[in-house]
Formats: sequence, structure tokens, C-alpha cells
Amino acid sequence: MADDCLFCKIIAGDIPSEEVYSDDDVYAFKDINPTAPVHVQIIPKKHIAYIDDATEEDTALMGKLILRANDVAKQLGIADDGFRYVINTRGHGCQTVYHIHLHIIGGRQMSWPPG
Ligand code: AMP
Ligand code: ZN
Repeated sequence: MADDCLFCKIIAGDIPSEEVYSDDDVYAFKDINPTAPVHVQIIPKKHIAYIDDATEEDTALMGKLILRANDVAKQLGIADDGFRYVINTRGHGCQTVYHIHLHIIGGRQMSWPPG
């Protein structure tokens, strides 16, 4: 837990969120400013600021993040049509919250390349 981290506060329940999935290691919740009909954040409960700060010790946790995201995509009914996972990283990547979060976005046709 990092005292100044928005997503750590959400995990702790100090800031409200709309839970989609939770277990000992990961937490998924609805994005407050959705960019698509389905827009969920799935995060490790362990505070890691940037995806490239993850270490070998986090191998299983990072794998679990993806697998539980797959479950959430199925649960929310976007898996068959397709969806997008996004991990914005640091300045050029447009990261605004410094706790690893995987965007799960779906429910509409995406475009490519991203902006
Ligand atoms: P990023 O720009 O990749 O760091 O994404 C941060 C995401 O967190 C954005 O999509 C925000 O809409 C979302 N967000 C920020 N504050 C909250 C909150 N309190 N509850 C849910 N989602 C949030
Ligand atoms: Zn945090």
C-alpha cells in the first residue's frame, strides 16, 4: 500500500469503486470515465507503480492479472466479439495513475492505430 496512491486507496475501500471482481491478489472495478460500453480496470493489490517496475518475483502475479482479466471479459459479455487490453506507461504512454492497471475495454468496434 502506498499512502499517496489512488488505486491503493480504492483497494483499501477508502475511495469507493464499483467492484467487478476481487480475490487475494487482484481487484477489478468499473472505470469512472468509461471510453466504451465496457471499461474496467484490473489491478494487482500489490502496489507497483509502472509495468516495467515488475520483477521476476511478480511473474505469477502478472500472469494472474491477465487470466483474471480474461475471466472478467467473459463475465461482462465482451469476449466473443473481442476487446482491448491497454497498459499506459509513463509520460508518453499517457499513464495518469501510478499503480499498474490493465484497461479492459470493449462493447464497441475499436479503431487502430491508437492516438
Ligand atoms: P491511465 O491514464 O492509463 O493511467 O488510466 C487511469 C484510469 O483510471 C482512467 O481511465 C480513469 O478514468 C480511471 N480512474 C481515475 N480515477 C478513478 C476512480 N476513482 N475510479 C475508477 N476509475 C478511475
Ligand atoms: Zn498503489
